Amino acid sequence: MEFSKLVEHLEKVENTQASLEKIDILSSLYSESEDHLEDVVMLSLGRISPAWQDLDLGISSKSVVDIIAMASGRKEEEVEEVWKTSGDLGDAAEEMIENKKQQRLMTKELTVEKVMNRLQKVSEMEKQGISQSVSQDKKKKLLADLLSSAEPAEARYLARMMLENLRIGIGEGTVRDALDQAFLNGEHSELVQQAYDYSNDFRQVAKASRKGTEELDKIDLQLFRPVKSMLAQKVESIEDGFDTVGEPAAVDFKYDGLRAQIHVKEGEVKIFTRRLENITDQFPDVKKYVEKQVDSENCIIDSEIVGMKDGEVIPFQRLSKRIKRKYEIEKLRNEIPVDLRPFDLIYEEESLMEKPYSERWKRLEEVIDENEDVRLADHIETSIVEDVNEMQQSSLGENHEGVMMKSLDAEYKPGSRVGYMVKLKPVMETLDLAIIGAQWSEGRKSGWLGRLKLGCWNDETGEYEMVGRMSSGLTDEQLEEVTERLKPLIKSEEGRDVELRPEVLVEVEYEEIQESPTYESGFALRFPRLKSFRDDKEEADSKEKLENLYDSQ
Ligand code: AMP
Repeated sequence: MEFSKLVEHLEKVENTQASLEKIDILSSLYSESEDHLEDVVMLSLGRISPAWQDLDLGISSKSVVDIIAMASGRKEEEVEEVWKTSGDLGDAAEEMIENKKQQRLMTKELTVEKVMNRLQKVSEMEKQGISQSVSQDKKKKLLADLLSSAEPAEARYLARMMLENLRIGIGEGTVRDALDQAFLNGEHSELVQQAYDYSNDFRQVAKASRKGTEELDKIDLQLFRPVKSMLAQKVESIEDGFDTVGEPAAVDFKYDGLRAQIHVKEGEVKIFTRRLENITDQFPDVKKYVEKQVDSENCIIDSEIVGMKDGEVIPFQRLSKRIKRKYEIEKLRNEIPVDLRPFDLIYEEESLMEKPYSERWKRLEEVIDENEDVRLADHIETSIVEDVNEMQQSSLGENHEGVMMKSLDAEYKPGSRVGYMVKLKPVMETLDLAIIGAQWSEGRKSGWLGRLKLGCWNDETGEYEMVGRMSSGLTDEQLEEVTERLKPLIKSEEGRDVELRPEVLVEVEYEEIQESPTYESGFALRFPRLKSFRDDKEEADSKEKLENLYDSQ
């Protein structure tokens, strides 16, 4: 197919906001793409290969500036000038090539095949990692050569393809629907989606869609090709959790780490993230753990990589440094050591996707040989709310995130947020605090005290210290009650502010404890809400308790 034909369609897609129209345009493009359907589909997504294949062009914006300059015979500064004004290197490429056009002799027409081959060649060079500067120069020359045979409109999209971002608002869902419309009368988008969830490869899905539903149905799990991870819904309470996943249910610790889908194929190991990136090189330690502790030559394990040093959890923020790191991997590995916590098995010499979770878990137990680095996720099976609560408390106590509840008889549904697995919103322990000050309200609520200052007790100084203000979320009745209780306790007033004797204690819920440079306690509650008056209590919670809670969040 001529590249110009692809570009014509991309332009049309870019010029409409309507997603149905985008689908129409792509669908007609796909149905006309005889031999090169796979390339056309990939390029319409601005990609040269699926994420898990590790083929990146490795071209920076600065390099694209150089490439445009080389191809158009203009100065880099001129290219940068246009880039700065429009913010898009595609525009810059189009304009520069347009200017060059007048002096150009006949050039050969670009084809989709030629463009794809050239881009792939460049990404192979990136992968082989020939000495940095040499390969950069060579890559730029190859791409400049391609760009110099482009028409202006083609140059616009070529430049964006080099950056692997077409900026035309086409996502995976659009491509799915367009394939469905082009080849399956628009009646099988679910099947196309399923094939994609299993393969994460639109080349294969496109080919199969053209052949029909039977071919699509055949697309299955394959080792070394990651599937989408099953996702969790969120529930507010343990009871809601049981309602969703059924009882008895499995209850696992929820670790605050990195989701890792680990493939073992004939003893060889590859590790993929939830976004399907291959991170095997970044985690040589995990690779080793799997080689030693997994008793299977062919399997796919769903797991969490957890940062862990001397028995203490390393927060995800620090762990995440390891994901992108290409150099000094050993050094970082010592700084941020990890444990592996497997929690599901979706392949073991055969696909286990459709087997019930209880069976997959049993097989996982057989396959994993536990040691200090690799331990099955903490896991119980129960119908009792109190058991789940206990799990939740011990998980939080060990600085993990809470618990996941899972349906024992459910299959593994890749990519879906189906209710086979739910995460329980962590319950924050409430705090009992004193109301140490307030402010007279204005407008409709004038006459009532609001903006209540909350204080915790500092044992060392023997004084209350502020941890936040509770202002929103109080009902009129509560405001009235609060005012009545507080009025007799007013010590002094200044403008609308009042200082109070700290005799009213309230139980407070909140989203989070944050560090605060403004309040004397050093802490601030995020979104504090009144839960109840604590008339049964005389002492507010101490600052020490806040410190402990803060550390355990
Ligand atoms: P969220 O990222 O908040 O949607 O929560 C789901 C994530 O929890 C998954 O993607 C996993 O990375 C993580 N996770 C931690 N422990 C478990 C577990 N035992 N079972 C399933 N997912 C877990």
